[in-house]
Amino acid sequence: RNLKRQMACRSDIDRFNGPFLGVFESLIPSEEEKVKQKQLLTVLEKLVSKEWPDARLYLYGSCANSFGFSKSDIDVCLAIENGNIDKREVLLKLADMLQLDNLQNVQAIIHARVPIVKLMDPVTGISCDICVNNLLAVVNTKLLRDYAQIDVRLRQLAFIVKHWAKSRGVNVTYQGTLSSYAYVLMCIHFLQQRRPAILPCLQRMRTTCFATVDHVECSYFDQVEKLWNFGERNGESVARLVWAFFHYWAYCHDYANDVISVRMGGTLSKRAKDWTRRVGNDRHLICIEDPFEVSHDLGRVVDKYSIRVLREEFERAAEIMQNDPYPFVTLFELY
Ligand code: ATP
Ligand code: MG
Repeated sequence: RNLKRQMACRSDIDRFNGPFLGVFESLIPSEEEKVKQKQLLTVLEKLVSKEWPDARLYLYGSCANSFGFSKSDIDVCLAIENGNIDKREVLLKLADMLQLDNLQNVQAIIHARVPIVKLMDPVTGISCDICVNNLLAVVNTKLLRDYAQIDVRLRQLAFIVKHWAKSRGVNVTYQGTLSSYAYVLMCIHFLQQRRPAILPCLQRMRTTCFATVDHVECSYFDQVEKLWNFGERNGESVARLVWAFFHYWAYCHDYANDVISVRMGGTLSKRAKDWTRRVGNDRHLICIEDPFEVSHDLGRVVDKYSIRVLREEFERAAEIMQNDPYPFVTLFELY
C-alpha cells in the first residue's frame, strides 16, 4: 500500500474523459421525469392539506439533491409544526387516506428507525417514501444541492461513484456498506482537498442561511451563484478525478486515525471525536462525519466484514483506473 500511495496517474487518463461523461449523461433523469415528480408532489400536497392544513411537503434525498439517477424513487418529508404529534399515528392515518385516493402498494412501515409510508402512483409510475418531520434530511439535501451548483465535476464524479457502488453491491446499508448520502459526502470532501481546490468549505464561510433543526444548528454560506468560477483554477478532467478518488480510498486514506469532515473542509482525528472505541454497534472503521449532526458517523453501518469488502472494492477500482484498457466499462461490471 505504501508503495502504491506514490503511484503516479497513468499518462493516458484524459482520453477516457469522454466515455466517463457518457456514463454520467446516460444516468441523468429527463425533464419529463422531473415534471412527473412535481405532479405527484402536487397530488400529495392536496391530499395532505385536507387533514393537516398547516403541514408542508418537502422533497429530499436524491430527487432533490441533484444526485438522483433516472427512474429512482422519490423521498418526501411531511412537516407538521405541532411538536407533540405521534409520527406513527400520522403515518397510519396518511396510509389510509392514500389508499382511499387510489394510490397503490400503500404500506406503512412504522417500526423502522425512520418510520415511513411507501406508495406507488399508477398515473406516473413513480414510487415514493414519505416520512414525518425529518427536517435534518431536508437541510442536508439543500447543502448537497448547493455544493453541486458550484462545479459540475461534483455531480459528474458523484454519479460515477454512485453507479460504481450500485453495480458492485457496496451501496446497501443493511449489509454494512455505505449509503448514497455517504458517497456524495466522500466526493465533496475529496474535491475540497484537491489543489487547487475544486470546492470550498461552505460551513466555514460567512453564514447566509441559518436554521435550528432538532436542536442542531445548521448554518452555512448558501449564495453559491457567487462561486460559479471557484474551481476554475483547477483544470482536472473527471476521468482524472475518478482515478484520484479511488486512489485516495484504496491507498491514501488513514482508516485507523482519520475522520473525513465536509463541515471542516478536511480531516479530523478519531481521537478528537472520541471515535476510537467501539460503542454499541458503532465501530468507526471508516469515519464520515455528518455535516450537521456531528456526533453521527455515516460509516457506523460498516462492520469488520464489510470493511474488507469495501476496501477490496476501492482497490479493485483503483487498479482498473490505473491499468484497464476500458475502465469506463470494467469499473461498473456487476459483482
Ligand atoms: P439513492 O439515489 O440511492 O436513492 P439518495 O440520495 O436518496 O440516493 P439515501 O442514502 O437513500 O440517498 O438518503 C436519502 C436522504 O436521506 C439523503 O439525501 C439524506 O438527506 C438523508 N440521509 C440518508 N442517510 C442519512 C443518515 N445516515 N443521516 C442523515 N441523513 C441521512
Ligand atoms: Mg433515495
